[in-house]
Amino acid sequence: TVRTRIAPSPTGDPHVGTAYIALFNLCFARQHGGEFILRIEDTDQVRSTRESEQQIFDALHWLGIEWDEGPDVGGPHGPYRQSERSEIYKKYANELVNNGHAFHCFCSAERLDQVRNEQAARQETQRYDGHCMHLSKEEVNTRLANNEPNVIRMKVPSEGICAVNDMLRGEVEIPWDRMDMQVLMKTDGLPTYFLANVVDDHLMGITHVLRGEEWLPSAPKLIKLYEYFGWEQPVLCYMPLLRNPDKSKLSKRKNPTSITFYEKMGFLPEALLNYLGRMGWSMPDEREKFTLQEMIENFDLSRVSLGGPIFDVEKLAWLNGQWIRELSVKEFVQRATDWGLLNQSNFEKITPLLQDRVEVFSQIIPLISFFYMGEIPLDLKLFEHKKLSPEQVRQVMQLLLWKLESLRHWDKDHIMDCIQSIANYFELKLRDIMPLVFVSITGQSSSVPVLDAMELLGPDLSRFRFRKALE
Ligand code: ATP
Ligand code: GLU
Repeated sequence: TVRTRIAPSPTGDPHVGTAYIALFNLCFARQHGGEFILRIEDTDQVRSTRESEQQIFDALHWLGIEWDEGPDVGGPHGPYRQSERSEIYKKYANELVNNGHAFHCFCSAERLDQVRNEQAARQETQRYDGHCMHLSKEEVNTRLANNEPNVIRMKVPSEGICAVNDMLRGEVEIPWDRMDMQVLMKTDGLPTYFLANVVDDHLMGITHVLRGEEWLPSAPKLIKLYEYFGWEQPVLCYMPLLRNPDKSKLSKRKNPTSITFYEKMGFLPEALLNYLGRMGWSMPDEREKFTLQEMIENFDLSRVSLGGPIFDVEKLAWLNGQWIRELSVKEFVQRATDWGLLNQSNFEKITPLLQDRVEVFSQIIPLISFFYMGEIPLDLKLFEHKKLSPEQVRQVMQLLLWKLESLRHWDKDHIMDCIQSIANYFELKLRDIMPLVFVSITGQSSSVPVLDAMELLGPDLSRFRFRKALE
């Protein structure tokens, strides 16, 4: 049976790119009566969080993407979380070392830097120079017995061409001298993506791998690993990446990339999924609006086109409007009241910010309408500042936005730290900066506590408003 998978790393907001790749894997599997698996690739212990993993599950469920096996639903090939499979990777890494396909490397970071710098000076490809490949068995054993920090690297051919067979492009030739002797096991004893990914795809019986095009340049390393292990390689398919309207790779600095943003903005999950299905693919009759079921019934990978599909929020909004218009009044009311921001549990969260500030209910809506909006109409006068020139106001806002973009824990204390650090940097007081935050987020110079509001609005919608304020 055909088995496909999605293998996200839980290192940030759930990305629309993840849903896009998931959708195509799901359709391919279903078209062939096969199975679709979710695996969590959390070997990067510093960046992976359980919170982000949960957000991936929630976002995919919201979209209506369901998997047959995964960390939350179980299955016969578990565990489906790489952090729970360390022993498996150790075993396979050692097998590669014993068979002479990989070797322990004891080089220090300084030495590796030096090698890279020398190669850069000679304008050569920067790759490991093979220093530790030639250590004698005795020396390696002694150094291992002394617990010297080391990694395991795979051997790669130094010349020749690797032919990657891609379902969409046919044969792609990549020269071996571009490949590094990839680290497979890190000093901390955990695998890198390359080893864990190959071992798991094999052990989980994955037959077809549809992944983002960004992985195509490293395909030879994966292919070599399958060969070293003597395993049959799954069929490979490198999907074109989503792009910003300016054709650059979709990035959160230019477009909201988080699925939760679209949920909070009040897009319908069916419409977002429909739009993702239009990314580089079309129905045989070219119709724009279709359901997941219709996409599965008509799916055909040969209809994927390689020109980079443009993820255009305005087109998405247009399509969403088509879906909205077809709802009955009853459905419309139901969907709108269920909508993330408007539902009862969110209203309950907002209430403490609100209750002391109203005398009658009719004052509620004006005070909190900004919670239920996407873009806020901005009165530029409100950005005029006693101490700062318009140019300085921009600088403050831009720096604050950059700070917020790299914030990993979105709560009011961390948001406050960001604002404080910007204030310190410009030698300003908090009260010089807070009004700018108020206006950008709420459209008013005073309102309910704005840090609480930002925490509830979430990172995507908050950053979106700052970005709009800077336009
Ligand atoms: P950004 O540039 O916005 O920070 P990123 O590349 O850092 O995005 P990651 O967190 O590395 O995003 O990726 C999350 C997931 O989304 C990965 O599985 C990645 O393959 C996928 N992804 C990221 N960008 C795109 C894209 N433009 N098209 C399709 N998938 C993407
Ligand atoms: N963990 C990788 C990612 O999130 C998986 C890529 C792949 O499908 O092999 O991009």
